[in-house]
Amino acid sequence: MSTSIKKGAELYRGKAKTVYHCDDPTRLILHFRNDTSAFDGARIEQLSRKGEVNNRINAFVMEKLSAAGVPTHFDRLLSADESLVKRLDMLPVECVVRNIAAGSLCKRLGVEEGLELEAPLFEFFLKNDELHDPMINDYHIRLFGWGTQQQIDEMQALTFTVNGVLKPMFAEIGILLVDYKLEFGVYDGELVLGDEFTPDGCRLWDAETREKLDKDRFRRDLGGVVEAYEEVARRLGVLLD
Ligand code: ADP
Ligand code: UDP
Repeated sequence: MSTSIKKGAELYRGKAKTVYHCDDPTRLILHFRNDTSAFDGARIEQLSRKGEVNNRINAFVMEKLSAAGVPTHFDRLLSADESLVKRLDMLPVECVVRNIAAGSLCKRLGVEEGLELEAPLFEFFLKNDELHDPMINDYHIRLFGWGTQQQIDEMQALTFTVNGVLKPMFAEIGILLVDYKLEFGVYDGELVLGDEFTPDGCRLWDAETREKLDKDRFRRDLGGVVEAYEEVARRLGVLLD
């Protein structure tokens, strides 16, 4: 594949990233913007440097996962805030794994935030902002054609594999991987991890102080959002400009 890629027309503008076509039809360009959204897009703010920090953290994590045998869409970094990825046919579901209770789990079930779960918990959500990403299960996915049984099984298995790689990786740098969301798509008939793994889509707590190092700082107006993301990057050894 050529090393110089020409950016084409915009394909999709999401809440935090813009997706562009390029001159290779098998690839897309992901532009990580500074926009930070919460509550299904009800609140959006610009946080300077966030796009670049997330682009770098995502590249680092995707490469770790590839090395561990997880098929990912990540091809390479193109610039400080852009990456080249395989063009996937995305499944409209979000896969969440939780190691510690937080967020919607606590609201839904009245569980206390911070409760350590005896085993990782898996949940599916429908990717639909207007409906506020409702929780769904295997039956909904099969019945409404959002995925096949094989894709359901593979999404679950791969999401747990990711936990097996990332939980110890973060533990080594004094960070608890509380929970995270993954999205998958199909490339050449194969299920592949897409979208991103950044502090925008997971919960990371300092293991000693339990200080939040993720988007909950924005959701809860705690301040120091990008500084916390940069701290995660620094501990991972991710180089920032
Ligand atoms: P949202 O759509 O939730 O507002 P983003 O701002 O992150 O989210 O937009 C990125 C969009 O690009 C998401 O809808 C995501 O599913 C999609 N996407 C991510 N990776 C790929 C890929 N490799 N191929 C096609 N679409 C992708
Ligand atoms: N998450 C996400 N995008 C979503 C919903 C959730 O990235 O549309 C992430 C979120 O950051 C957290 C995990 O998935 O790391 C679990 O989120 P939860 O169900 O607790 O929902 P929340 O209350 O965070 O919206």
